Amino acid sequence: MNTTDMHIPSNRVRDIERYVHTELAGCYPDEELRMFVYMLFEAFLGWDKTQLLLHRDDTINQSDLLRFHWAVEDLKQFRPIQHIIGHTDFCGLHIHVTPDVLVPRPETEEIVARLTDWLASRQAGHPAILDLCTGSGCIAIALKHRFPSAQVTAVDISPAALAIARDNAAANHTDIHFVEADVLDPVQLAALTPSYDLIVSNPPYVMERERADIQPNVLNYDPALALFVPDSDPLRFYRAIGQYAATHLAPQGLLALEINQALSTETVQLLQALGFDTQLHHDFRGNPRCITASMPSCNTKE
Ligand code: GLN
Repeated sequence: MNTTDMHIPSNRVRDIERYVHTELAGCYPDEELRMFVYMLFEAFLGWDKTQLLLHRDDTINQSDLLRFHWAVEDLKQFRPIQHIIGHTDFCGLHIHVTPDVLVPRPETEEIVARLTDWLASRQAGHPAILDLCTGSGCIAIALKHRFPSAQVTAVDISPAALAIARDNAAANHTDIHFVEADVLDPVQLAALTPSYDLIVSNPPYVMERERADIQPNVLNYDPALALFVPDSDPLRFYRAIGQYAATHLAPQGLLALEINQALSTETVQLLQALGFDTQLHHDFRGNPRCITASMPSCNTKE
């Protein structure tokens, strides 16, 4: 295939940038396309933003050019850019992603930032941390990376997701205990350690009836298992995790959950009915996205 077949005007860097923008203009907002350009040059040529600026009048070879061509074709099909380049940045770490795991979101990074502050303020020597529905392992790995003395356990039902999470843990030099278990099955959870200082989870929470509102790059490529819950019982994971945490949090321990913004009131009520004191936190878009909860007898507030 030559450059004419690919519609790329030339193999000059500035023309490739323009090509990404013109080919995808109808599909994504400008700001997102600028980010795609940075991410593709970084992934394919190892250039950061400054290097990209410095190389704008250079040319790249035909095989690199082809990679841009296929990336643009994939992006037209709304394949997530993280799947195209094979990874995403999460809390400054390189996290490998495939269609077997949910692509980590910036909202979840905010939760890790919140938990980083909480763990730092506690000054406990070796906090025991449990991450339920770990997916790519991003939360568990980011926390272990920041608190190397923590003992971190991460659980998922999917062997394929756990394989990715294990690779991610190894690639980021973090030692995490991975367990294959169904969070909805109390018998399987009972096999874990009796008590944790921090239990965190970003479980599936998108209702089937919300399908229509979901972007094609999420709907067609993120694993349904990690996203969807039945309309008849959308809080099933929160009930199971809340019940488990009510009896397995250490004194002054914290439960932290990413939540569906449309169900924040119901989720808070569910946790309060289980005996928790709760705090609701909003994400950078202003949506209720996280609940932290503790047992009142522990007298802890975040
Ligand atoms: N925040 C994700 C989304 O909007 C959903 C994550 C989840 O279900 N845990 O696609």
